[in-house]
Amino acid sequence: MTGLPLLPVAGAATGSGRPRLPEWFKVRPPSGEQYGAIKQALRERGLSTVCEEARCPNLSECWSGGKSGRGTATLMVMGGVCTRGCRFCSVPTGKPGPLDPEEPRKASETIGIMGVGYVVITSVDRDDLPDRGAAHFAAVIAQCKQDHPDLLVEVLTPDFAGNPGATATILAAKPDVVAHNIESVRRLTPLVRDRRAAYDQSLDVLRNYKRDGAKHTKTSIMVGFGEREEEVEETLRDLREAGVDIVTIGQYLRPTQEARHLPVTEFVHPTQFAKYQAMAQRMGFLYVASGPLVRSSYKAGELFLEGLIRGANPVAP
Ligand code: SF4
Repeated sequence: MTGLPLLPVAGAATGSGRPRLPEWFKVRPPSGEQYGAIKQALRERGLSTVCEEARCPNLSECWSGGKSGRGTATLMVMGGVCTRGCRFCSVPTGKPGPLDPEEPRKASETIGIMGVGYVVITSVDRDDLPDRGAAHFAAVIAQCKQDHPDLLVEVLTPDFAGNPGATATILAAKPDVVAHNIESVRRLTPLVRDRRAAYDQSLDVLRNYKRDGAKHTKTSIMVGFGEREEEVEETLRDLREAGVDIVTIGQYLRPTQEARHLPVTEFVHPTQFAKYQAMAQRMGFLYVASGPLVRSSYKAGELFLEGLIRGANPVAP
């Protein structure tokens, strides 16, 4: 799962010492009735969202429903503390609390209040649990699908330490789209991700999901850590070889100035994102979203997938 950061204005360094973001990062702050209703529902049930944790730049668009009028959000389950410490992520690292046995019901209730047709469910990593939380995650999916038969569920899962039994448990709950993020290119993975994550392990997780019957698999790459174009190309090839259908490519932004968070090496220009878009499309991905503000759970992608899964034959961008 990817962490994402504050959004100062473009230009030189800000008062807090952060690099000012380039022009192409201007976004509207979250607002609106639907945004407020979703926020209240979440707080009342003690639920977190990646959208807030990561201060995602697309939050207002997603929660306020944008053009479709139907909001989307990414629910984070299994608590707000992760056992891992990836150098790009704003989620706190530490010793998580016990799982909440009521979470499947609470998550399903919140989705009901949000009135969404498509939801993304993700989680922190729980290396402290024997099955790394796979059964609990699956219970949340199953409860939501049971209570909302028309709902499309995308899951963005941990690697479960590569345990094929855990990925099978997730698939048995019948999510519509299964995602796991590769996050970065092979060379930079040890620098960018927690030491328990690995490039080939994540490829295996994606390959296992596809082999074991996932209809649509998805992943996300962040750029701006100093990767070279040919390394991104190699990663896209590896993902296609693992049967991945959907890929998003977005700009890494530093969540805080704390030493645990990597500095941004480069603000990748929109023309380079367009090059990655064309490169991935030539490789035959079903859907590609590549741009500075693109994030792993990206509304346009969800609308495309919703159309595809509901048989509307949507046109990929
Ligand atoms: S596994 Fe890494 S990316 Fe995911 S929540 Fe934990 S620290 Fe963040």
